[in-house]
Amino acid sequence: MRKAAAVFLVVGVLVGGAGFAQQPLTYYLTGNIKEATGTVATDKGDQRTSFLGSIGFRVVPTEKGLLFYLFDFNLISKGVPTGRGDSGPISVRLADAQGKSMTYDPRSGRASTEFAAIFHYELIDRVKGFRQVRGQAEGDLFVPFTETMTGKMSVRFPEELRVVDKGTTYVDLDLTLALSTSVLGSIQRISLITRVIIDWTRLFSPAQYLRIQPVFIGTGPTDGTATGKAFPELMKRATELWNRCGSVRCIKFVVNEPIYINNSAYKVLETAAEADSLRAEVSVTDAVEVFVVDRMDFACSWGGGACFSSGTASAKIVSCDQQLAVPSPCPCTWCPATCPPCPPCQTGAVNYYHLAHELGHALNLDHPGQPYGLAAVTAGSNMEPSGFCCDNPNVQSAKNCRNASNPLLFWGTALCVGTPNISD
Ligand SMILES: [Zn+2]
Repeated sequence: MRKAAAVFLVVGVLVGGAGFAQQPLTYYLTGNIKEATGTVATDKGDQRTSFLGSIGFRVVPTEKGLLFYLFDFNLISKGVPTGRGDSGPISVRLADAQGKSMTYDPRSGRASTEFAAIFHYELIDRVKGFRQVRGQAEGDLFVPFTETMTGKMSVRFPEELRVVDKGTTYVDLDLTLALSTSVLGSIQRISLITRVIIDWTRLFSPAQYLRIQPVFIGTGPTDGTATGKAFPELMKRATELWNRCGSVRCIKFVVNEPIYINNSAYKVLETAAEADSLRAEVSVTDAVEVFVVDRMDFACSWGGGACFSSGTASAKIVSCDQQLAVPSPCPCTWCPATCPPCPPCQTGAVNYYHLAHELGHALNLDHPGQPYGLAAVTAGSNMEPSGFCCDNPNVQSAKNCRNASNPLLFWGTALCVGTPNISD
C-alpha cells in the first residue's frame, strides 16, 4: 500500500510539471445535487418531488479556451404517484461512459449539451419482472428492464471561470429529460432547475461513494439471535477488494447502521417468492439494501445470494449468514472450474468475496461473457460466478473498476492507493 502511494505521488508531480506543456492537463469539477425540487410528468399528471444526485465535468484548458465535457450525471428520487401506483425509487444515469462534449461560452459562463440517459423506477420491476441471466452458472443476477431518456442540459458557471487546482465554485443547472424508449411509460418527463456547489480537482477524479443499508432479521442490535453475523466480514472483504480500484478510479462504500425486521419467518427463506416479500419490506432511497437472512432453502440456485435491479437506485441484494457457514456435505452440485482453488466444492467459511461480487452487480457489472445489457467485466476476476460452495475469485480488474456505475454513487474525498490485480 505504501509503495503504491509513493508511485501515485511521483506521477502527480511529473504530469503537473512544466515539461509536459503540450500534454493538456485535465481538471475535474464535481459535486452533489442535494434536495433539488423538480417536476415529474406522469400518466397521472405532473408531480413535484425532490432529487439527490451527482454531476461531474471534465475541463481541459487549450490555447482556444476551456473545453468542457459532462462525464458524470446521476439523479435519484424516492418516487412519485403514477396511474399504476407508486413509482418507487426513480433513477437516471448518463448512458455514455465516455461523457459528452459541451458548448461553452466563457464570457457568459453558459454551457450546454444533449445526452442519452438510462432511466428506471422500481414499478418497472414490479410490473415487468427481471431478465434473469440463465446458464450453467448460479442465477444470482436479476437484470432490470430500463428505459432511455434524452437529456438537455443548460448550465451556467460563474462568468470568466478560471481553472484552479483546488477550490469551490458553483453551477446553475437547467435540465429536462424526455422519455425516448419506453418499457412501462408511466413517467414521460423530468425537469429540474437547481444550483450545485462543485469542487475543483486536477489530474484524477475524486472518490465516488456507494451507500450500503444492511437489513437484518431480529428485534435490534442487542438481539443475540438476529441475522447478519456474516455481514461485517463480508463487507470488510468487499471494501478491501474495491479499494484495489484506487490507481484507476476511487470507489468507496459507506455503511449505514443496520435496520432490523422483527419477523422471524424471514430467518429461513423457503422460496424465492418469500425473498420478494422480504425485499419489499425496506427501501432506502439513497442506498443499496443488503438483506442478510440466516439461510435459504434454494441457496444452490442463487449461490446463496443474489442482486436485483442491478445498476439502478432500486438495486437490492439478498444474502445469508451461511455464506461463511456452508453446510457439510456441500449441498450443491455446481462448482466452477474458473474459480481456483475450486473444484472441489467446499464447506464452512467459504464465500468471503461473495458480497464484493454482488456489489459488483449492484454497480451494473455483468458476469464474464454474459452480455445482458450490463457492463463488461474481466474473465477470471471477482465477477466470475462461483456457486454456493466455492468463493468468487479474490481478484479485482481495472476494467471492472472503470465500468462500475450506479445512480446512487456520489462524490466525496478519500485516499485511494490500491492497484487492481489485472490491468484490464
Ligand atoms: Zn453473479
